[in-house]
Parts: sequence; C-alpha cells; structure tokens
Amino acid sequence: MQFEKEICNECGRAVHFGSGLFVNRVADLNDIETRIEMRKPFPNGEYICCECTYQIYEYPYVGN
Ligand SMILES: [Zn+2]
Repeated sequence: MQFEKEICNECGRAVHFGSGLFVNRVADLNDIETRIEMRKPFPNGEYICCECTYQIYEYPYVGN
C-alpha cells in the first residue's frame, strides 16, 4: 500500500494527493518511536490533517 504512511497520525484518514485532505496537511517531523511515546493513535502516519491540526494547536483564528 503505497500511501500507508500518508495518513493523519491522529485520526488515521488518508491525506495523499486526491484524498480531500491533501491540502493543508502538515508533516509530522517526529520519528515513529516518538509518535508511539506520544500515544498517537496511528504512529505510522507521517502527517497531521488540517482538522486535527486545529484541534491540537488551537489556531487563534479558529473560533471557540
Ligand atoms: Zn486528522
């Protein structure tokens, strides 16, 4: 499965080109061991999708 690492490590959804979440995906710079220590639900995912990014980092322009 060529896209197995192109998933969001928070929600597990595919973020590859054409997936609908490709835009605004953020690369997770941690290695897989670190992601496991962080208790990421999908530690093999090398990205975080835009929706999870908002939840994690609480971008100031996202209300409430
Ligand atoms: Zn996500």
